[in-house]
Amino acid sequence: MEVVVYRYGHRIARDKRITTHVALVARAFGADGIVIDTEDDKIEESVRSVNARFGGDFFIKTGIPWRKYFNEWDGRIAHLTMYGERVDEVMDDIRRNKKLLIVVGSEKVPGDFYRIADYNVAIGNQPHSEVAALAIFLHFLTKGAWLDKKFDGIMEILPSKHGKKIKYNYIKMLRLAGCSEGVIKHCMKVAKLAVEIARRIKENGHNVDVEAVEAGAMLHDIGRAKTHGIMHIIEGVKIASRYGMPKKVLNIIERHGGAGIDEEEAIKLGLPKKDYSPIAIEEKIVAHADNLVGNGYRSVEDVARIWEKKIGEKAVRKLLKLHNELSKLAGIDINEIVKRLKEN
Ligand code: SAM
Repeated sequence: MEVVVYRYGHRIARDKRITTHVALVARAFGADGIVIDTEDDKIEESVRSVNARFGGDFFIKTGIPWRKYFNEWDGRIAHLTMYGERVDEVMDDIRRNKKLLIVVGSEKVPGDFYRIADYNVAIGNQPHSEVAALAIFLHFLTKGAWLDKKFDGIMEILPSKHGKKIKYNYIKMLRLAGCSEGVIKHCMKVAKLAVEIARRIKENGHNVDVEAVEAGAMLHDIGRAKTHGIMHIIEGVKIASRYGMPKKVLNIIERHGGAGIDEEEAIKLGLPKKDYSPIAIEEKIVAHADNLVGNGYRSVEDVARIWEKKIGEKAVRKLLKLHNELSKLAGIDINEIVKRLKEN
């Protein structure tokens, strides 16, 4: 069944929050879209930003006068009001329709609504809220099936007894940002190595946030959707912060250039003046894993040979220092990890 919600009487200043909640409830509880009488760019933007992060193709239209919209609607109309019929008594009939427009009001709705509506439905005969009325109506309508609706977004909240559990779909983020398949493949390779290094370091008794390493490694080159120049690290931070990535991950993206770009080098490269050297262990791991991925995985000596000619001695010194530091923390030469990944 195609289900659209119509929100009547939206007053931009007063109903900002409540109308946003009507829209979010409509989206979460299984409606296909919402139409709002008053034009409101802000609400459109916040609903679209929820779609961008959490997925789905829920639509929103604002500035659509009710009379014309109701007249052109070629399905049935259910108006939610405390004066209506009991929801449990009319729902079987409502479910038989192919298209349903659910109308919710604000303070007072025009008397015409009661006549135009095919169903006036009460969620109990006490006054309460359009948000609650809509949620319970959709729960009845879908017989609870909204609970299993898949949104397939770049992030998914996993049910958890304690604390937050969020699963991110990094490949989807990279695609959505506009990265090429080549960049995506590279990020996957870097992530595989970075996570392996992080695990080794953790097993060796050091504190490492393996999830942040995975996120940072998968997204380190997301800025390449905009440019392949060094500015991709700045663009990457901008894109990833729009996707709600935490500061820890943004820092990994910003500090993954070479084996660290100091302030002096940053100025020469045309980056905004500051030090971009990796500081946290997670930042060092991703920067180094990135160095060890060319067309395939490669040893630090191979990278050093290339850098010596192309970038210079200072960069090579930093590369080897980083390699030794991480190898010591991992209790194994990182080249060994590279070799094993290469063999698999
Ligand atoms: N007197 C109004 C009415 O018709 O229900 C109450 C206004 S209420 C603040 C805003 C909206 O919430 C109403 O337009 C209606 O859509 C919805 N609503 C409130 N209580 C409801 C109830 N018991 N059953 C169904 N809808 C309700």
